[in-house]
Amino acid sequence: MTVSVMGVEYDALTLHRAAERAAGMIGRKRGGSIVTANTEILRRCLRDSGYAAAINGADMVLADGVGVVYASRILGTPLPGRVAGADLVPLLLERLAGEKGGVFLYGGRPGVAGRAAQRLRQRFPGLRITGTENGYIPSGDDLCLREAVRSADLLLVGLGAPRQELWMRDHRAELTAVMIGVGGLLDVFAGDVPRAPERWQHAGLEWLWRLCREPRRITRMAPLPGVLLRAAAERIGNGAPKGPGRN
Ligand code: UDP
Repeated sequence: MTVSVMGVEYDALTLHRAAERAAGMIGRKRGGSIVTANTEILRRCLRDSGYAAAINGADMVLADGVGVVYASRILGTPLPGRVAGADLVPLLLERLAGEKGGVFLYGGRPGVAGRAAQRLRQRFPGLRITGTENGYIPSGDDLCLREAVRSADLLLVGLGAPRQELWMRDHRAELTAVMIGVGGLLDVFAGDVPRAPERWQHAGLEWLWRLCREPRRITRMAPLPGVLLRAAAERIGNGAPKGPGRN
């Protein structure tokens, strides 16, 4: 089932259901793309219909932000909760490691994906890292021709939004690996950026933790409360909550 949050069709899944579905996609070896659409991505969709189409064209769209979950509640069609890429990806890597599956890491500044690979090999013994590439190569377009990418089961795409979602849309048909947009997660895997402590995560305050660590994010975050106001205006304007989305 999907739930439309102001035109973005989110899959109404818990973390574990999302992991099961993603594992099913990986097992079928027919590729696919997973978007972890946080509040910033939702906001961008509201003003860029081409980007919204790229997001809605993905095979799975997950609510990676408390703002998205709040907006769904305000609209009267609540999503089950936040599904963070930072929680989902380790579950998939653990499963892949058990099956001797392979993952390719694409994104981040030079050196980041390589360091992430080293640490992931230690964390998930048996995991095959088929290769790495930084996210600043002049054109990532020929990446899909490389054997290391073609032999992977999972491709982590950490180019930040909107680049990673557009890249996945453009290359969806070329790969049998399942792709997932991971934002700055490779920096976390590399040990360069710490993740928020669990207490902050459980309190729905991971965004505040990141803001405290990187105050310059304020310019990116300042417009986000507007998303909730817009959800409220839509709800008041529409009266009764709308039903679930496409399925
Ligand atoms: N990045 C990249 N290529 C680009 C732009 C960004 O590889 O052309 C990487 C950047 O190095 C960082 C990630 O994309 O690792 C973006 O991180 P950000 O914190 O913006 O993403 P978020 O986690 O907030 O989605």
